Amino acid sequence: MCLGHWSVSAIESAKVAAGIAQGLKFGQSPEMRNVVILGATGSIGRSARTVARSMPDRMRIVGMSAHNNAEALAEASIEFPEARTIVSGGEGGQERLVELATMPEADLVLVAIVGTAGLQPALAAIEAGKDLAVASKEILVMAGEIVMDAARQKGVNILPVDSEHSAIFQCLGGRDAGSVRRLVLTCSGGPFRQTPAEQLASVTPDMALRHPTWSMGRKITIDSATLFNKALEMIEARWLFDVGLERIDVVVHPQSIVHSMVEFVDHSILAQLGESDMCLPIQCAVTWPARLPNSMRPLDFASMGRLDFESPRCEDFPALDLARCAGEGGGAMPAVLNAANEVAVEAFLAGRLPFPGIWRVVADVMDACPHVDHPSLEELLAVDADARRLAEGLVG
Ligand code: NAD
Ligand code: MG
Repeated sequence: MCLGHWSVSAIESAKVAAGIAQGLKFGQSPEMRNVVILGATGSIGRSARTVARSMPDRMRIVGMSAHNNAEALAEASIEFPEARTIVSGGEGGQERLVELATMPEADLVLVAIVGTAGLQPALAAIEAGKDLAVASKEILVMAGEIVMDAARQKGVNILPVDSEHSAIFQCLGGRDAGSVRRLVLTCSGGPFRQTPAEQLASVTPDMALRHPTWSMGRKITIDSATLFNKALEMIEARWLFDVGLERIDVVVHPQSIVHSMVEFVDHSILAQLGESDMCLPIQCAVTWPARLPNSMRPLDFASMGRLDFESPRCEDFPALDLARCAGEGGGAMPAVLNAANEVAVEAFLAGRLPFPGIWRVVADVMDACPHVDHPSLEELLAVDADARRLAEGLVG
C-alpha cells in the first residue's frame, strides 16, 4: 500500500494495532486487568506470572492453561489460587481453551501458546469482547487479516507482546500507519550469526538451542537460529501495524538492546531500548496505556559501550526472503510457510532433518501449494493441514 493512499479500513486497523480502538490515550489512568493466560507454563507464561506477582493491584490472573504439564500448572495455581485452570492436551482441548478465553471475568487474554493452537481461542476471545495480548506470532502469520478484522469489528485492542512489536507499538505511541515511512525490526542474528555457510549443515539441536541473548521456548529458539523467527515477525508486523512488507526492514543487532525502531515520514527515527527481558513487553501490554515503575535493571550505557548493527545474511539464511515471497503474494502463503516451518522444526529437533533442511522443506512446500486469495478461516485451516502433510512427506 502506498503512502498517502490510506483506506478507511487501513486507518481503522492501524488504530486497533495502536490500541486506540477504545479511544484510550497514553497517560490515562490504568485499571486492574483480569487476565487469562493461555500457555501459562511456558517461557512467556512464566514471565507473565512474574509480572502479575510484581503488580498485584494491576494484574489479576483469572485463568491459566497448560497443554500437558499438569504438575507445573498445579504449582502455578498455588500462587494464584483464584485462577481457573485447564489442561488443553487430549480430547476436547480446544473447547476448554475457548471456554477459558471467554470466561466472563476476563478483560484481557494473553495468547502464549506455541504455534497456531491458540488461534480459535483468540478469535473466540475477540468475539466475546476481550482485549488480546499476543505473544503467539504464529496466529498472526497464519490468520493476521482475520484476527485484525475481527478485532476492528468488535472494537477490541490487539496488544503486541513480541518484544520487537511491543517496541514498535511503544514508538508509535498511538500514531497510525500513515505517519510511518519504515519499520525496522532488530534481530540478534542467533547463535550462527558468524558461522560460515558450509558449517551450517553440521549444526545439531543442542547447538541451535543455545541462544546468545534470549532464554525462550524450544520452537522459537530454533526459529531464531534459522531466522524464521524474524521472518514470522515481518509478517506479524505487517498485520499488527498495517504496513506493507516493502516498508519493513530487518537489521542484525547482536546485543538485543534496541528492540526495534520506527522511521516516520519525516525521517525521524524512534527506538525502544531495554534489557532482554520479556517481562517488560508483557507489563506494557497489561498496563497499557499507563507506564508503571518496576524493579527491572536499568540500562547502563557506559558499561554497554557500544551497539552494533549489520545486514542479515539473506543468502545463507533464506528465511527472510521466503517471508517476503510469502507475504507479498498475500493470501494463504504465510500460513503455508508457518505450517511447514513448524513441522520442519519438530523434525530437526527429533534428529530427522538437518539444520539447512528446515529452509529447504519450507521452500519446497511453498512451491507445491497453490495461491489462495483472501482465504476464509476454513480455507486457512485446510491449507495449514495440507502444508503440514506435504512437509511431513518431505521430512519423512
Ligand atoms: P514454550 O514452549 O515455553 O511454552 C508454550 C506454552 O504453550 C506452554 O504453556 C504449553 O503448555 C502450551 N502449549 C504447547 N502446545 C500447545 C497446544 N497444542 N495447545 C495448547 N497449548 C499448548 O513457548 P514460549 O517460548 O513461551 O512461546 C510461546 C509463544 O510466544 C510462541 O508463539 C513464541 O513465538 C512467542 N514468543 C515467545 C518469546 C519468548 O521469549 N519465549 C518471545 C516472543 C514471542
Ligand atoms: Mg521477537
